[in-house]
Amino acid sequence: MRRLRNVKIVATLGPASNDYDTIRALFEAGADVFRLNMSHGDHSEIRARHEMIRKIEAEKRRPIAILADLQGPKLRVGVFANGEEELVEGQTFRLDLDEAEGDSTRVRLPHPEIFAALEAGSRLLVNDGKIRLKVIECSREHAECEVVVGGTISNRKGVNVPDVVLPLAALSEKDRKDLEFVCELGVDWLALSFVQRPDDVWEARDLANGRAAILSKIEKPAAVNAFDEILSVSDGIMVARGDLGVELPVQNVPPIQKRLIRKCRAAAKPVIVATQMLESMIDSPMPTRAEVSDVAAAIYEGTDAVMLSAESAAGSYPIEAVTTMDNVAREVESDPTFREVMDASRGGRKDTVADAIVSAAREIAETTNIKAICCFSQSGTTALLVARERPHVPIIAMTHLTSTARRLCLSWGMHCVITGELERFKMAVVNAARAARREGFAGERDQIVVTAGVPFNMPGTTNILRVAPCEERLIFNTDPE
Ligand code: ATP
Ligand code: MG
Ligand code: MG
Repeated sequence: MRRLRNVKIVATLGPASNDYDTIRALFEAGADVFRLNMSHGDHSEIRARHEMIRKIEAEKRRPIAILADLQGPKLRVGVFANGEEELVEGQTFRLDLDEAEGDSTRVRLPHPEIFAALEAGSRLLVNDGKIRLKVIECSREHAECEVVVGGTISNRKGVNVPDVVLPLAALSEKDRKDLEFVCELGVDWLALSFVQRPDDVWEARDLANGRAAILSKIEKPAAVNAFDEILSVSDGIMVARGDLGVELPVQNVPPIQKRLIRKCRAAAKPVIVATQMLESMIDSPMPTRAEVSDVAAAIYEGTDAVMLSAESAAGSYPIEAVTTMDNVAREVESDPTFREVMDASRGGRKDTVADAIVSAAREIAETTNIKAICCFSQSGTTALLVARERPHVPIIAMTHLTSTARRLCLSWGMHCVITGELERFKMAVVNAARAARREGFAGERDQIVVTAGVPFNMPGTTNILRVAPCEERLIFNTDPE
């Protein structure tokens, strides 16, 4: 099974996508990566979702990436007796430390440090800024607020206090427990919320200790300012537009998105554009024109992946949302303008053998009638260099490490194939040709480009480029050992 597009789709799982058949349907519709949000759902639910995804992976025989999103120091309200309440402009609403379930007049906000910092007049923004509250009076245990902009408030919605600086650690006690739990489960990516400095990333990296790759969510002004350093210590990036658009003026988000995508591509690290991409599809089977344009724009900018949050986690049309993204991606990627933009914005190449080989592989493949670039990669680094080239032909990443294949699922254009452990280059070429034929990329009479490192099984040694026939007899007759 192969995708007919290069950009990847990340789908968040939640109550609307909690059973085997729905998750499988999401995969079939085009989801390449599943996001488990640690802010919602307990460990037994997370474990159950993880198991279902791995079962689908085995059934479909395609690697699937699982991304666990750690809550981080995100402020959230508690739960409501009715699950949700409608707040009306002009009414008063109370936030306090009381453990009782919320109603239409109050809800718990279990963060004493906020009450310590609030003043009359401070603004509180709820649910990615959709609901706005203004503090009328407050103590160290409560805040009486006026509803400035109303809306539906529901369990565990996020709260931002843009006027106030809070002393918060990057990883809470809960995050550390969650991190250990998901690393033991075997997730592929860890997303860190509210990263502010490179040290925050190091802390998580030390705890994960190689068990998962680290993705930094950029949603704080401090992270935007320290972006280059954060990128250099992260394996991937998420442009987390929900909180970013609350912490900064909302019109600052598009230029930041563009800049971050460009820098990630130059660094050959995957980037996800997230939040509200198809927001109206939570309740409607049809997206708005503006949403379709937003998804398309992110793809034209060269993002590796686009993401669904509530659309697939809690909406009424999770499958339709994935299908919409898939359709938009296929249309954009077949547009000659898209090719021109990708070609014109290629950069970041270093003076190394691997960079030169990868770039030559793309040129050879594009200027002749070659069907795919097959790259053997152990750590995944060479495959990421191929993705950075944004070649016109498909990329087949060959690796014997399941963990590498799964992580690479997040990156642009990557079709990952797990091979047995190989010792000879000839067998690598045979394997690559078989994979290209079996997965529908090439026929008997076609040719592929193969890149690899010899001797095998030494990371960072890409040093061979071979144009190979797909016909097995020809490979055996013509190839050197
Ligand atoms: P984040 O800031 O990490 O994105 P979020 O609260 O916005 O957190 P999302 O994963 O983006 O969460 O999903 C959007 C909404 O979908 C949530 O606010 C929540 O209402 C709902 N949701 C998502 N996952 C779950 C879940 N597992 N259980 C219940 N509700 C969920
Ligand atoms: Mg967020
Ligand atoms: Mg969100």
